[in-house]
Amino acid sequence: MFLNLIDKIKRNFSLRLTLWYTIVSLFAFIVIFTIAYYSLQSSLKKEDEKLILFRFNKYKEYYEKDGLEGVQSEIALERNGEKPNLFFVRIADKDNHTLLLSIPDQWKGVDISELGSINTNMKVQNLRPTDKSIETLYEIITFPLKDGNFIQIGKDITYRLEALNRFKQIFFAVMLPAILIGLLGGYLVTYKALLPIRDLTKTIKSIVNTGEMGARVPSGKTDDELGELVSLFNNMLVRIEQLIEGMKESLDIVAHDLRTPLTSLRVMAENALSSHQSLELCREALSDCLEESEKIIRMLNTLMDISEAKAKTLKLKKERFDISNLVQKTLEIYLFIAEEKNITINAELSEGILVFADPNRIRQVVGNLLDNSIKYTPSGGMINIKTYKETHKAVIEVNDNGIGISEQDLPKIWDRLYRGEKSTTHRGLGLGLSIVKSIVELHGGHVEVTSRPSFGSTFIVSLPFVE
Ligand code: ADP
Repeated sequence: MFLNLIDKIKRNFSLRLTLWYTIVSLFAFIVIFTIAYYSLQSSLKKEDEKLILFRFNKYKEYYEKDGLEGVQSEIALERNGEKPNLFFVRIADKDNHTLLLSIPDQWKGVDISELGSINTNMKVQNLRPTDKSIETLYEIITFPLKDGNFIQIGKDITYRLEALNRFKQIFFAVMLPAILIGLLGGYLVTYKALLPIRDLTKTIKSIVNTGEMGARVPSGKTDDELGELVSLFNNMLVRIEQLIEGMKESLDIVAHDLRTPLTSLRVMAENALSSHQSLELCREALSDCLEESEKIIRMLNTLMDISEAKAKTLKLKKERFDISNLVQKTLEIYLFIAEEKNITINAELSEGILVFADPNRIRQVVGNLLDNSIKYTPSGGMINIKTYKETHKAVIEVNDNGIGISEQDLPKIWDRLYRGEKSTTHRGLGLGLSIVKSIVELHGGHVEVTSRPSFGSTFIVSLPFVE
């Protein structure tokens, strides 16, 4: 039963929070009470001592002037006065023999013989009536007199005890309901405050159990940190859902795109295996198979690179280099293919444009853009490639007067495996621009395109410039 309760408390965050809150409040309450109690006690004590000191100064004056008689007649005067005499007065010699003793009428239950021999060595002493049924306390202070005798002045301090007792009673009477109210109130407040967390848990459980990503946490209940957490969580779910959708879509496209080369691989292999084929034809079929499988590997590698670049996990081997040098060297590789297609390439490369990037990846970017320009520009066309500096940017611009891109195709050309309507007659996987964009963005740059069908296209890559 008890263990069950502890287990329940351990698993219930609201309850645990409330308990902690109550324990801390209780502790603070006790500390405040103790301080208040001792302050009250000390101020009451000081007040009494002040009164006793006042008496002492008065009696001392009479004693020094007229001796014992002086004090005696003053006490007699006080006794006959209207106010009740509340002070105990005793004058004793060095050997503690009583020379004068005046006991207030109100002092009850104290043994006279005891009062006549109170210790003179102690400065302050408390005295209780011998009759224990009387709840009273007297405080007596001893002062030395000039002639070596002592004067003891006492006062009933029972009211002090009563006041402190009342204070204690009030504390206990207030503390219990305060703890209960604190516990209940604290539990209700934390229960309400943790509602968004409970909604969150419910939603996560439902997603885990059903695999349904469409569930959302009810939002807008609070606009505090928990409200923000809920809305962030919902946004995260939307993002995950989009990613899963994207992955499903990509998987469908990949499966579809892989089917064609794999089918032709199979057909080639089957043909080669058929019994009537010559060795020459078998060799040819094998080399075609190799070409097809390389295409598949290239496609899968590029797809993986794009995914890694998008997830920012693609490792870049960055170094400082001149972008124009890199463009010049890449261009040289494509000059021959362009020449074969009767396409002219003009280069306008500015000097001293330094970037901090992965040269192999940037070579891939320039290569893909040049390859596309050559691919989509008919024979006799022209390509201009430029590098220049803009504020904080190193720019590579590839422009052609080729077939251009239609308005419908323009937003989709960056998508994985997307191929423009007019491109199907050209070789390609639909991954070139996707990898270009991913690499450039991974470097902190960006890429844009302007194009008009039949007039040509311009691709502009901007990378952060290094001073
Ligand atoms: P692909 O393998 O089809 O070339 P890309 O991702 O490189 O794939 O390009 C996507 C699409 O963008 C192409 O299919 C083509 O329609 C269009 N495209 C890219 N570059 C050019 C260009 N220079 N001129 C015209 N169309 C282009």
